[in-house]
Amino acid sequence: MYATTLRCVFCGTDYPLMHRGSCTLCARPGEETALHETLAVQYNLAALKRQLDREELARRSAGLWRYHELLPVVDPTFRIDLGAGGTRLVRLTRISEAVAGSRLLMKVEGSNPSGSFKDRPIGVAASVALEQGAPGLACLTSGNIGSAMAAVAAKAGVSSLVLLLGAAGLADQEASVNVEKYVQISAYGAEVVTPIGNLGQLYALADRIEAELGWSFLHNMQAYQTDGDKTTAFEICEQLGWQAPAAVFVPTGTGTNLFGLWQGFVLFKELGFIDTLPRMFAVQPTGAASLVAAWEAHQAIPSVLERIEPNLAPPISHRVSGYHAYKAMQESGGGAVAVTDADMFAAMKDLASYEGIYAEMASAAALAGIRSALALDLLETEEMRQGGIVGILTSHGLKNSLALTQVFPPQTKVEGTWEALRSYLKLKKVELQK
Ligand SMILES: [Zn+2]
Repeated sequence: MYATTLRCVFCGTDYPLMHRGSCTLCARPGEETALHETLAVQYNLAALKRQLDREELARRSAGLWRYHELLPVVDPTFRIDLGAGGTRLVRLTRISEAVAGSRLLMKVEGSNPSGSFKDRPIGVAASVALEQGAPGLACLTSGNIGSAMAAVAAKAGVSSLVLLLGAAGLADQEASVNVEKYVQISAYGAEVVTPIGNLGQLYALADRIEAELGWSFLHNMQAYQTDGDKTTAFEICEQLGWQAPAAVFVPTGTGTNLFGLWQGFVLFKELGFIDTLPRMFAVQPTGAASLVAAWEAHQAIPSVLERIEPNLAPPISHRVSGYHAYKAMQESGGGAVAVTDADMFAAMKDLASYEGIYAEMASAAALAGIRSALALDLLETEEMRQGGIVGILTSHGLKNSLALTQVFPPQTKVEGTWEALRSYLKLKKVELQK
């Protein structure tokens, strides 16, 4: 075991690996603050350097557990493997920003087993929970965490309970539950409940679930989720020939993924696997952008937004993002940008119709964010051409297709004859040459 302690990246306090929940000095249970997710797993770097090198890693098969020394699960029987990780890093070729010689790449996380990047953090956190003896798993989610957790629980043969909300950060606001995700979670066999109450009340309920049932509520395993997110950064470096890109754009809710990616790049550099670190950028929906507001105000601890404006990206709509995400942006020389529904929709449509990648709206925020950063002159030409810019497409488009039925017109019915079809295609100005 190379993991040593959990360390609060805000106050520096160390906790044993069995510690649950947040840093007790920085955050009170049930309170919504930016200091709830400050714990990060620490590793014995000297021992890792003796054990692991790039050649050894390169020999292994793709996936999350390829990096098992850099993850906190000791017993291989608890490393639940559904095939998470090993996703493609695709170079865009047809989107206009990529045509002029810029190196724009997308990490396609929607091809993970449950359709989102959450298979990494939840795969690791759930495996840790099972190794620590949890007889069941529970979570609070707008959907993707729930799907990832329910899938792991199914494979491990333990019960699971999903508290499903319209958006995880919108507990007491009106937001309808995502139907596709509800169906997917139910199919894995989890018990799904939509609880009524504010977020503080629901976190208290989570603690009660743990106390009464002995189950592991994955919100209290944040440090281990972050640890799973590191593997995305590891893969990107390997896929770029053991180099970090110039910048990484991450659709950001609470900021766990952004921080986890940053931790991954830093760890690879500390191990001597890469030479440089990327600039980390958060992308948030306008109206749910606490990190963007904090960044503009130079305020390392983001304030809690009073209200979130409804938008097409519930997975990244939270009242407050964490200090850990701000820290990653600050240490890396990155930043934060806000994008509108129209920006995300255009990016989603372009990724699908030019590049053949269908991403959930919240995921397409990555490309929308890159476009926003270009418009704001936050990226330099050299970064675009040499190091490359990476966007994290966090989930598959099939995760929220129903929400878009209002946007696309209903399909046309055409009589099943060549003449009728040809007339229709001509009308639509479709190229008919052989
Ligand atoms: Zn602390």
